[in-house]
Amino acid sequence: MKRCALLVVGDELLDGRVTDTNSDFISSRLLPLGWRVVLRAAVGDEMGIISETVSLALQVSDLIVVTGGLGPTQDDLTREAVASALGRELERDPVIEENLRSFFSSMGREMSPSNARQADRVRGADWLQARLGTAPGQWIEESGRVIVLLPGVPREMQDMLEKEVIPRLKGRYPGGETAAAVLLVAARPESEVGERVYEALGDIEGLKVSFRALTGQVEVRLAGDEPDLVEEGRRRVSEALGEWVVAEGEESLEGNLGDELRKRGLTLAVAESCTGGMIGERITRVPGSSDYFRGGVVAYSYRAKETLLGVDAALLREKGAVNEEVAEAMARGVRERLGSDLGLSVTGVAGPGTGGEKEPVGTVVLGVADGEGARALKYRLPGNREMVRAFAANIALALAYFKVKGVKVEDLR
Ligand code: ATP
Ligand code: MG
Repeated sequence: MKRCALLVVGDELLDGRVTDTNSDFISSRLLPLGWRVVLRAAVGDEMGIISETVSLALQVSDLIVVTGGLGPTQDDLTREAVASALGRELERDPVIEENLRSFFSSMGREMSPSNARQADRVRGADWLQARLGTAPGQWIEESGRVIVLLPGVPREMQDMLEKEVIPRLKGRYPGGETAAAVLLVAARPESEVGERVYEALGDIEGLKVSFRALTGQVEVRLAGDEPDLVEEGRRRVSEALGEWVVAEGEESLEGNLGDELRKRGLTLAVAESCTGGMIGERITRVPGSSDYFRGGVVAYSYRAKETLLGVDAALLREKGAVNEEVAEAMARGVRERLGSDLGLSVTGVAGPGTGGEKEPVGTVVLGVADGEGARALKYRLPGNREMVRAFAANIALALAYFKVKGVKVEDLR
C-alpha cells in the first residue's frame, strides 16, 4: 500500500484546548484510495519542529498532508517551515494577493499586510482553491513525493480535501483503491447483528467485516479489494437485517427519517426532557428539515410539561415524570400544540442523581403519537449521563423512523 503521513500544526492541539479531528477525517478519506497512514504527528507553532517533522515524514511516506498554520497571523508558520524543509523559497503570488484584496473589500474591509502572507507559495507549488475560507492550500511535488498543505479549520480542510486533493490524488496515483460498505443498524443488540451478518455472508471470502457498537446503534462495515464482492456482501447483509438498517454509506438516521417524512407528506414535532434539545438539534442538522419539522419543546420541569405540553399536574405529582403515561401525554401534547402529524417525546433519568424521580438512573421512556393515539416504550439504558442522553436521542430517532415506515416495534435495543 501507498504510505502517507499526517501532520497537524498548532499549539492548541497539544495543550488540550482543541482535539485533533482533522487526522481522523483525512485517514478515513484516504483509506479507500489505498493509502496507509504510517505516521501521525501534532506539532507546535515553531518553525524548527514543523520543518524537522516534515523532513522525517518525507523519509517514510509518499504523501504528506499538513493541516493548520496557513492563516495570516505570526504563529502561522507552515508555509515557511515547509519551504525551509525543502530548501525552497517562498514567493508571493500577485493574482492570489489580488483575490484576497478583493475578498476583503467585498466584506467592506481593507486587507492588512499580514493577510497578504496567505498569498505566499512554496516555489513550484500548485494552489488548491479555497472555496470556503480565505487561505488557499498548496500541492507540492518533491522527488516523486507529494506534500499537501491544507487549512486547519475542519470545514475548510474537508471541503478542500474532497474537492481539490482527492481528485488529484486519484489522477496522480491511480489504482489500489479498496471498496467499503457501511450499514447502520438500530434497535438490535450487537450480538444479534453479528450473528445475522455472518450467516448472511456465508461462504463469501475476501471481505473484512467489522462492527462498532454505538450508543443505541451498531455500525457494520464490509471492506475488500473487489468492489463487486463488497457490493454482494452489502446486498446480503442489507437483506438479512432488513428494516433494522436505518442508514447506509454516508446517509444518517436523521436524514433518512426526514426523507421518509417528506415522501409521505408528514410533519413531526418533538417534546424533550432529558435530551434537552438533542433530538431537535439532530433533526435540524439536515438541510431542508423545515419541510417536515414543526419544532420542539424542551420541557425539563414539571411546570414546563404542564404549561407547554398540557401534561396533567396530578399525574406528575402522583407518578413523577418518567413513566409511560407522561411520555404519551407529552407526545400528544406537542403534536396538538404544534399541529403536526406525529409527536415524539422523551422523558428519563440521565443521572448521576435521580432528581427526585422514583425510577433508577438510566430509565428512559419514549412516546410517539399520531392521529390514532399515543404509545410509549420504556427502557433501562446503561452508562453515564452523556451515554444515556446520546442513547435516548438515537433510539428516539429510530423509533420515529420505524413509526413512519410502519415497522412494528415492540422492543428497541
Ligand atoms: P486560519 O486561516 O483560520 O488561521 P489556519 O490554517 O491557520 O487557518 P489554524 O489557525 O491552525 O488554521 O486553525 C484554525 C482553527 O481550526 C483552530 O483554532 C482549531 O479550532 C481548528 N483546528 C485546527 N487544526 C485542527 C485539527 N487538527 N483538528 C480539529 N480542529 C482543528
Ligand atoms: Mg491560524
